[in-house]
Amino acid sequence: VKAASRQIHRRDPMEECVMIVEQFRKICCTSADVLNLLVNDLVSSMEAGLKTKDSKNSPKMLPSFVENLPNGSEKGSYFALDLGGTNFRILHVELGGRKAKVVKQEVEECSIPEKLKIATGRELFDFIAEKLSTFVRKTHGSTLSNHDWHHHQRKELQLGFTFSFPVDQKSIDGGSLLEWTKGFKCDGVIGENVVQLLEEALARNGLEMKVNVLINDTVGTLAAGRYLYDNTIIAIILGTGTNSAYIESSAALRLKLDESQLPKSTTTVINTEWSYFWSPYLPVTDIDMELLHESPLPGQQQYEKLISGMYLGEIVRRVLQKLQRQSGVFGKSVLSNLANPHSLDARTMSVMHEDESCGLQKVAKVLEENFDIVGTSLELRRLVQTVCDVVCQRAGRLAAVGIVAMLKKIGWDQASTTITIAVDGGLYEHYKKFRGYLFDAMRELLGEKVAENISIVLCKDGSGIGAALLAASHS
Ligand code: BGC
Ligand code: MG
Repeated sequence: VKAASRQIHRRDPMEECVMIVEQFRKICCTSADVLNLLVNDLVSSMEAGLKTKDSKNSPKMLPSFVENLPNGSEKGSYFALDLGGTNFRILHVELGGRKAKVVKQEVEECSIPEKLKIATGRELFDFIAEKLSTFVRKTHGSTLSNHDWHHHQRKELQLGFTFSFPVDQKSIDGGSLLEWTKGFKCDGVIGENVVQLLEEALARNGLEMKVNVLINDTVGTLAAGRYLYDNTIIAIILGTGTNSAYIESSAALRLKLDESQLPKSTTTVINTEWSYFWSPYLPVTDIDMELLHESPLPGQQQYEKLISGMYLGEIVRRVLQKLQRQSGVFGKSVLSNLANPHSLDARTMSVMHEDESCGLQKVAKVLEENFDIVGTSLELRRLVQTVCDVVCQRAGRLAAVGIVAMLKKIGWDQASTTITIAVDGGLYEHYKKFRGYLFDAMRELLGEKVAENISIVLCKDGSGIGAALLAASHS
């Protein structure tokens, strides 16, 4: 056997690579049968998550304590913070009630410096507070005297805080961080009430605001979708991370929460935290297993690590690294560049994947700029594109599993009603082929006719706008 495999190694590097990619493709492949098994598995692990306090490697099903989703009649001036993806956003909206809806909207966005993600909690919250303080003074402060400024603040500045991590909540206006995800790792935040940390940081910056709501980005997106289309019942995030939220009857939480902790309203919104979903039917390769254990929260969030923007490019990079290791196909000197974790992001991956130029010039350019790989043959560039395609297709199809599982979970009556699913996140917004694979799989699973009754709408910045809307409906 050894002799035989040595012989294979002496094969043409390109031939060797084609074999490796073919093997990878086979394992990543998802038939409709497998997708259906995954749908059922996800539904039952969501059911189980509703009944238990701590769930490992399955959706956490966290209650949000949202009492009123916005209905369009909200009025007034509200701020929002949106933290937890690649960018950090500050928003201000003025709501004019049913007819006027959003009268005015101001947004400021900045990318979060990598070093801040691993700084102390105090540094992270000081950064947020300082940006918010500047924003508020810029948009509201200029016309006020110092005395009025303080008075104005206490009376009027109301805020919704979107914090896109798993949080244990007992009420809508606070909660403690369960764990960091998506590469954030700031000391002194896990187990703490993040609203309190924010308020303390605001106080250090001389700003006083009332934090009406603390929400997950899925919950914000649901609110934003609902504000525009009242048949919105599910929200999905497909961005740096992935997650979903939906409306559930509060009674469904009887086994999870003590009687006194149950939401007062008859329904509430559940943040599923489906990123933690695991199933033996998930199509994972040895490369995915390595990534699972060498990424944040080792061994956890398998579903997210197959789907979301933070990981797709990294999977592709790992496949390319394997090709290089086994065959040296990219040339002798490049191994060190390819070995750099996260040196390929999903956006760059999509550029290669969606390159339609006849010589695959964009693929060549990315390989050169990211990895110093030059002089690749067209055949090799095609193979790189195939790797992107395999990884993207699997992700899109697995995301469809999530959506179909949500529909099944809520018992949506397919025949008679049309519904809206609100989606936010850069992966969904910018990666056309990903969207295409997602829609294909949905049609495969639900049938063409049924799929027509579902309208999937992109709620750009919904995660942030929703926080402002919920601050209004909980003021
Ligand atoms: C977090 C979720 C979040 C999702 C999308 C996941 O890693 O656990 O809370 O909603 O990313 O941002
Ligand atoms: Mg977001």
